[in-house]
Amino acid sequence: MIALESLAEELRAKVRGKVLSHEPMARHTSFKIGGPADLLVIPEDVGDLRAALAFARSQQIPVRVLGGGSNTLVRDGGIRGMVLLLSAFQELSREGSEVTAGAGVRVSRLLAFSSRQGLGGLEILSGVPGTVGGAVWGNAGAWGGSTADHLVRVQLVTREGEERILAREVIPFRYRFSGFPEGAVITRATFALVPGNPTAIRKQISRWLVRRNATQPVEFRSAGSIFKNPPGDYAGRLVEGAGIRGIRIGGAMISEKHGNFFVNLGGARAADVLALVALAQERVRATAGVDLEPEIQVVGED
Ligand SMILES: Cc1cc2nc3c(=O)[nH]c(=O)nc-3n(C[C@H](O)[C@H](O)[C@H](O)COP(=O)(O)OP(=O)(O)OC[C@H]3O[C@@H](n4cnc5c(N)ncnc54)[C@H](O)[C@@H]3O)c2cc1C
Repeated sequence: MIALESLAEELRAKVRGKVLSHEPMARHTSFKIGGPADLLVIPEDVGDLRAALAFARSQQIPVRVLGGGSNTLVRDGGIRGMVLLLSAFQELSREGSEVTAGAGVRVSRLLAFSSRQGLGGLEILSGVPGTVGGAVWGNAGAWGGSTADHLVRVQLVTREGEERILAREVIPFRYRFSGFPEGAVITRATFALVPGNPTAIRKQISRWLVRRNATQPVEFRSAGSIFKNPPGDYAGRLVEGAGIRGIRIGGAMISEKHGNFFVNLGGARAADVLALVALAQERVRATAGVDLEPEIQVVGED
């Protein structure tokens, strides 16, 4: 612990942003689950981010990026190394029909901004929690549409601290996958949108939200869909078919409303959720012969 504190002090001398040590990750994930990260850094801008990455390289500290923590399950032992939070990257700007957003901008804020500007196309992301960085990294989507659909380019900083701009065409997006270089930190993304009537765009955003709220247990803490949909099927349907909706382990439960949502009823540990994941995989394999692949990012130590 003393070594960690002195490391944090050294880092504070190098970056302008916040540096926290032994920070509970439950505070930074939508599941409200997760042990402490050794170091949590909130860089103020790209220069600061590069300074944090340079420090991590010099000390051989592993680095992870966290957006809104809405697709992430942090194990109970927490995260060894440095977690970067891009919450200060809040730029939002428009040029013609293109909108550029900082990685830390909430998707909901991006939608509100674009609709006010009379620019549509991203409505499908209505109700997707988390940040622009997380949505681009995981190619978040719903109802057949995804983040990559309107993306033009992404700006990032490589693990080595190099700034790069990637055109959408060179990023191998597919269903819930982007394929960015290992360790790359997305700093901003630009979307090409479609001019439209602000009221009509807002109405479409509300319609998707109503549909989402009717089908998903949004009243509980969760990380959204636990599993990726297998080709031609729905993970939720398969879990429901296995007859395990409503089953509980510790403080975690497979939602009664939606089989692909596992919820924290209060006080759930990551171990509870992971035991439910293993159980669902086993039951679905036995009943439907399908191997469900997790969509959530499971990080940290037991
Ligand atoms: C109620 C609920 C509903 C949901 N509905 C949907 C849905 O309809 N569709 C859908 O796709 N998802 C859905 N999700 C899951 C989640 O909201 C999305 O995956 C979201 O895009 C994750 O963004 P985040 O910022 O929270 O990412 P995080 O959970 O913080 O991170 C996810 C991954 O992205 C990486 N990452 C984040 N930011 C950056 C960055 N700046 N640079 C590099 N890597 C980065 C992280 O390292 C991690 O690997 C839902 C979640 C909840 C809780």
